[in-house]
Amino acid sequence: MIKFEHGRFIFNAGILKIIACEGRGPETGAVSVRFTVLGSGSAGNCSLLETPSARILIDAGFSGRQIRSRLEKIRSSHEGIDAVLVTHEHSDHTRGLNVIGGKWQVPVFANRMTREAIESGLKAEVSWKQFSSGDSFFIGDVEVESFCLPHDAHDPVGFLLKTPGGTIGILTDLGHSNPLVLQKARESDVLLLETNYDNEMLKADVKRPWQTKQRIMSRHGHLSNDQAAELLGEIGCERLKHLFLGHLSRDCNTTELAVATVEGRLSGMGMSHIPVECLCQETPGSTVTLEILQSPQQTEGGQLVLF
Ligand SMILES: [Zn+2]
Ligand SMILES: [Zn+2]
Repeated sequence: MIKFEHGRFIFNAGILKIIACEGRGPETGAVSVRFTVLGSGSAGNCSLLETPSARILIDAGFSGRQIRSRLEKIRSSHEGIDAVLVTHEHSDHTRGLNVIGGKWQVPVFANRMTREAIESGLKAEVSWKQFSSGDSFFIGDVEVESFCLPHDAHDPVGFLLKTPGGTIGILTDLGHSNPLVLQKARESDVLLLETNYDNEMLKADVKRPWQTKQRIMSRHGHLSNDQAAELLGEIGCERLKHLFLGHLSRDCNTTELAVATVEGRLSGMGMSHIPVECLCQETPGSTVTLEILQSPQQTEGGQLVLF
């Protein structure tokens, strides 16, 4: 059951409720998890996850100054960040690593091939935390699950971020979906999904040479609006509570086209209640607050049961 109260979405059926999808989360005093995309597009990507025991950046595709100012804009801070997770080496995901990993001394989590691809171009000494694609590891109370993506980088990954309030999927920079990708998307309560281009706009674009267009459209390029909609159709979206559309091309897509394509598909599936928010390059999106619904039930081991 979903209630709308003063602009808040409250989901009673799942393991979480999502409140305050507009603007910043209210100070409820309750244990909560907050997720904000600081910006997303072909020219830069960076998100922030905050839980009771961890503050994690996902990608660092803006300058350090930009990331700092966007964190301040959402009433957060660049101080005390525990980790930056890197999906792959492309500059729209790594531009700020000199500052974040160097000056701010935030540990940088990446797989070996991504690390090697980035390291030679870094001026700063950074503290690397290396994982293998497919590994799961904890940062505070967040279980980070990495999984391989088909994209034209050395060893690109997506992430499932399993928090005490629910699971967030990071799924950008992939040329097509496959059973592994679908499985991870299906597990997400909140999903950041790539809608990179509109087919017709890309074909009509005069700035890009044919080879570049072919790369974007290839099985190791990016997801189009239609492909993202198809992916949503395949996963069924029964668990999905909030959908962010990201990594839009400036020249070959529009917010209206991406949203219309995806909402059309969700509506056809009877899932038009799922909030869809299209992100942009210039400014942070809404903060989604995942508040843990605490049950009076306790397991035998004394652990709280979430419902
Ligand atoms: Zn990218
Ligand atoms: Zn990329």
